[in-house]
Order: sequence, then C-alpha cells, then structure tokens
Amino acid sequence: MSTPTYPNFINADRLHTLATEQREDTGHVREIIAKSRALQPLTADECAVLLAATSTDLQEEILDTARDLKQKVYGNRIVIFAPLYIGNHCINDCTYCAFRRSLRTTVRKTLTPQELTEQVVALEDAGHKRLILVFGEHPNYTPEFIAESVKQVYSTHSGNGEIRRVNINAAPLDHEGYKMVKESGIGTYQIFQETYHEPTYSTVHPPHTHKGDYMYRLHGLTRAYEAGCDDVGIGALFGLYDWRFETLALVEHAQFLMQRFGCGPHTISFPRIRPAHGVAMNDRYAVSDDDFKRLVAILRLCVPYTGMILTAREPAHIRRDIMEFGVSQIDAGTRIELAGYTEADKEQELAREQFQIGDMRSLDEIMLELMQNDYIPSFCTSCYRRGRTGEQFMEFAVPGFIESFCTPNAILTLAEYLEDYASPETRATGQALIERQIQTLPTAADRERLLAQLVQIQNEGQRDITL
Ligand code: SAM
Ligand code: SF4
Repeated sequence: MSTPTYPNFINADRLHTLATEQREDTGHVREIIAKSRALQPLTADECAVLLAATSTDLQEEILDTARDLKQKVYGNRIVIFAPLYIGNHCINDCTYCAFRRSLRTTVRKTLTPQELTEQVVALEDAGHKRLILVFGEHPNYTPEFIAESVKQVYSTHSGNGEIRRVNINAAPLDHEGYKMVKESGIGTYQIFQETYHEPTYSTVHPPHTHKGDYMYRLHGLTRAYEAGCDDVGIGALFGLYDWRFETLALVEHAQFLMQRFGCGPHTISFPRIRPAHGVAMNDRYAVSDDDFKRLVAILRLCVPYTGMILTAREPAHIRRDIMEFGVSQIDAGTRIELAGYTEADKEQELAREQFQIGDMRSLDEIMLELMQNDYIPSFCTSCYRRGRTGEQFMEFAVPGFIESFCTPNAILTLAEYLEDYASPETRATGQALIERQIQTLPTAADRERLLAQLVQIQNEGQRDITL
C-alpha cells in the first residue's frame, strides 16, 4: 500500500488575499445566498464574498438565511451534552491554556476510576446522556487509557441514567491509536487546529513541544478517517489570529475532508479565547460579539449540513442571541474543574481549570429556557447507535427524515428527561411543548406512533425508545 500524502491544504497567501481584498458586491452576495439556500456547501472564495458584506442590509440577509437554514436542516432541535475533564496533565505549552506545562501553579489531577464513576453518576443524575471527554496531552493519556475511560463511562449506570454517546477532545493520535479508541465505541473525535495561521501557530505552540508540529495536527483528523473514524470535529480558537482568515481556513479544512473522504466533518467548533489562570490576555485579535455572530451565521451558510457547537465559554446572553443563527449543539450544566460535577454550586476555581466559563447555569435551568423559547432540547443518539453516521447520515440523505424521525426522537429523549430529572416548572413547560410539537408532525401515523411511545415512557416506565 502506498503511503498517503499529506498536503498543506491551507494556502495562507490565498486566504489572506481573500480575507483582505474582496470588496462588497451585493449581486454576488445574493447569488451565494441563493446557492446556500439550495443547501449547497460553499467554497472559501464564496465564503470571502460573504465576509466582505459590511452593509447592514446584506448582513441582515445573511443572518436571515442562517436562521432559515438552521430551521430547514435541524428544525428547532438543540442537542445537549456536557464536557467531562479526565486529566489536566500536559506536556505542551500552549500560551493560552492554564494546563500548559510551564505553569507550576495549576492544580494537576487525573480522575481515578472511582472518581470517574462518581462524575458520571452525577452527570447521569442530572439527566445527561451525551458527554465529551477532555484530556490534556500526556504520556499517561494513551489510546488504551482513553479507550478504557470510554468503556467505563458506558458501563456506569445510575437509576434510569446511562451515557449513550461519548465524544473525545484529545491530542491527535496515530492510526493505531485511533483504531483502538474507535473500538471503544466513541462518537466524534474532536481536534481544534487552534489557528490555521502557521506563524501564529508557532508563536503560541512553542516549536519544541509535541503540539508545535503544525502539519501533524493539521492532519490529525486525516489520520482519524484513514483509521476508520469517519465522525470528526474540527475547530479554531478565535482570538489568536484574524477571524476572517480562520473562518476561511475552517471552510477549506471542511472541503479538504469532503474531497478526500467523501464526507466532511460532523461538527465545527468556534470557541473564543477566555480568561484563564496564568494566561496573559492579548486582545489584538479579539472577536467582537457582532463579528462573532457574523462568523457563526457565515459558517452556517458555508456548511449547511455540519453540526455547529456553541459552548459554555460564552455567557448566557450570547448563547441566547447566537443560537438561532445555526448552532445545533450546546453544552449545559457545565463544570470544567477536575471532579467538578460532585461539587455543585461552588464558585469556579481557576487554578483547577482550563479557562473561565461564561455560562454556569444548571442543566435544568438551560432546558427550561430553551423550551420557553420553543427549542426542543434533544439527547438523541439514535443515528449514531444505529450506524447512521458519516456518509450514511440519514438526517440529510432521506427527504422527510428530520420531520418523521429526528423530531420524534428528540421528543422521546426530552420526555425521558422530564419524567426522570426535571424540576416541576421545567416538566410542565416541557409537557406543553411536546403537546404543541406533536401537532406539527407531518402525518397522522407519525402522531399516533409518537403518542403510543410517549405512553410507554410516561406510564410504563420504558426508556431508550428510538426510531
Ligand atoms: N489537550 C488537547 C488539545 O490541546 O487538543 C485537548 C484540548 S483542550 C483540553 C480543549 C480546547 O480548549 C483546546 O483545543 C483549545 O481550543 C481550548 N482552549 C484552551 N485554552 C482556552 C482558553 N483560554 N479559552 C478558551 N478555550 C481554550
Ligand atoms: Fe495542553 Fe491542550 Fe492546554 Fe495545549 S490546549 S496546554 S495541549 S491541554
């Protein structure tokens, strides 16, 4: 077998030209909006045309399109997950991160198996079904260790609680490593490039560190695909370099994966840098709230079928504001200090965590607010568990799949949450939402099937019913 080649698909000169030399062109922006409304992914050149739209009217048209696309592709579902930090030992020295090795004052910890069980039980008791496990990069956090952690999470049950999907955010692996982690049953493997701008990359990731190898990280997910993990998440850490450049680069990365493997990334993340213990903030490239909203909407237009994740790094009011422009997943009830889920209601202790989070609300509070705003919070894991991932993603391949399968599945997982974990107010709000949603299902058969399944959950105590 020939050795695969790993090209540098980020042509920085080209992206700089696109980011800086494109002028506003109303006709062209509207052509691209029409293409996007036809659910076709956009190229970096087309993305640049949208980025150059500065007039209020055109920006409003882009925001409206993003809102409509989200509705068309995802309906009003929002997938809910929680991050679980497994260990913060790290051999890298990323300047923006409180886990970097040169920072001696960070409290270091790796969860013991007993502590891992306790954290998972606390998450299940709050109502979670989907986790992302987060690791620093360290020789102790081998693929075997990651795989063991995943298996332990899946085998931990509390009452009706269980974790049905475990995603990973960890260092890039080699092919063997990915195979081992994949066999443990992971969902998405997430790696953020942080910045696609190589000179900035070298400044914030010292060259003598593992992470200092730009190309090894750039192709971290290429190796994942080659090893059989076709469910991957890309991302950039906004605030390290020019946000327009990073947005174009994310689109290039998505296109590269699509062209090479016939299937783009499952998710895109766009974290903004947060204050962190021992980190000197440099706001030269800070992204304003308005630009952040624009970049989220533009990404939505560029990759209509890719999941978009907005984390609790952002404060509640930003999450509330931005969600409608294309976000499909949020975390909720988030604690990022090691072992933090068993220390409810404590203030954040920055020396124990990677950065300061902006949204400290509980899962129940966030569920309530989402439903008051007519979103259906979903814990659904059906497609992934039935092997409908990667190229097989039914959601988009089969006309009407979302209305007939995704929405009812989301409602079923919401009904479980309301029965087992919700506060009285959240429960009443959720039940009213479910009644309204049932009326929107396309056929009488869909409505009857869902009503029968709700009876199984509510009156017969059955769980994990999916289509
Ligand atoms: N150690 C692995 C790595 O670097 O890929 C795991 C990732 S790290 C625990 C998760 C992500 O948090 C990083 O990829 C980075 O984008 C983000 N992050 C680090 N410091 C941050 C900060 N100060 N504010 C916001 N996000 C940050
Ligand atoms: Fe380590 Fe990841 Fe933090 Fe870098 S971002 S110091 S690799 S935990």
